[in-house]
Amino acid sequence: MSQLWSQFVRELKPYVPGAQGGGEQVVKLNTNENPYPPSPRVTEVLRDFNAGDLRLYPQPESDDLVKTIARYHGLNTDQVFVGNGSDEILAHAFNALFRRNSPLLFPDLTYSFYPVYCKLFDIAYKKVALDASFQINVADYAGATGGIVFANPNAPTSLLLAQHALRDLLASAPDSAVLVDEAYIDFSSAPESRASAIALLNECSNLLVTRTLSKSRSLAGLRVGYALGSPELIEALRRVKNSFNSYPVDALASALAIASFEDEEYFQAMRQRVLAERARLVDALRARGFEALDSAANFLMVRHSSKKARGIYQGLHAKDVWVRYFDLPRIENYLRISVGSAEQNDALLDALDTL
Ligand SMILES: *Cc1c(COP(=O)(O)O)cnc(C)c1O
Repeated sequence: MSQLWSQFVRELKPYVPGAQGGGEQVVKLNTNENPYPPSPRVTEVLRDFNAGDLRLYPQPESDDLVKTIARYHGLNTDQVFVGNGSDEILAHAFNALFRRNSPLLFPDLTYSFYPVYCKLFDIAYKKVALDASFQINVADYAGATGGIVFANPNAPTSLLLAQHALRDLLASAPDSAVLVDEAYIDFSSAPESRASAIALLNECSNLLVTRTLSKSRSLAGLRVGYALGSPELIEALRRVKNSFNSYPVDALASALAIASFEDEEYFQAMRQRVLAERARLVDALRARGFEALDSAANFLMVRHSSKKARGIYQGLHAKDVWVRYFDLPRIENYLRISVGSAEQNDALLDALDTL
């Protein structure tokens, strides 16, 4: 703590992401990155990118990328906002939509960045307990007026809230903005039209959906995310963004993100590969005494029938296999394991067999 810090900064409790680095030998299953490379179309556009174009500022409203995403989802451009990773968009959304007189509601177990933004933007919040099987109970959110946020599929639970339940939740809190963080929705085995909140956008003006290219499009290092919502909510995000940073998405990121959307075939193929590996990993872990929550994401939330999670986590770490352990009430005996490539998953299973 420095004497030069403001009182406000002294009181911040920043988010701590899963560890990065570790070197080549590490089997990195701790931050839900995609084990497969981005589309070859991305490599091509990167190779052909003219560095001279970096002389100019990028499009302030990222028009080309916004158009691409609007077309991809069958929406209008005024329903799309893009940003430097979905974390940045979440920050703008909290700032723009949740500084209300009543508390923001979110599950007791969800993305741990949400309370960090609340602190940063001085937003009152109330954690709502998930039920005994870690599901969101929609009725708990009825009548909310200060806003609602949760991830769907939720993290770290990996569980998907069904679309009909989403519809009920949105209808029961018409005076709240409802932010559905769909960082992992592409890993749901149901088709997007039957899983995503996007299908509800045209009937629910209080809905904002965030997405990221970090996980399902293998572009965590690029930092591109987007939000979809009513023009009213999107305009609120633009107002905050244009009071903070006019150019959050750089020219290179924009070009590479567009390239990713241009290769739907590759996207679907990699998605299916992750789903197939997830199914194989669940079976292999069950055979080793674990139970797994029913994952709709690219990670598993697992618990061993007799061994403590902390010990397994430490044992794996000593063998250079990194998974995530949260020392939190209710999930202190769970491990969150990203679905890796076949080789990475085999390395995990081998390490478990020799613990
Ligand atoms: C990974 C993740 C994000 C952040 O995605 P970025 O676009 O990389 O910032 C947001 N929400 C949840 C639930 C995530 O797991």
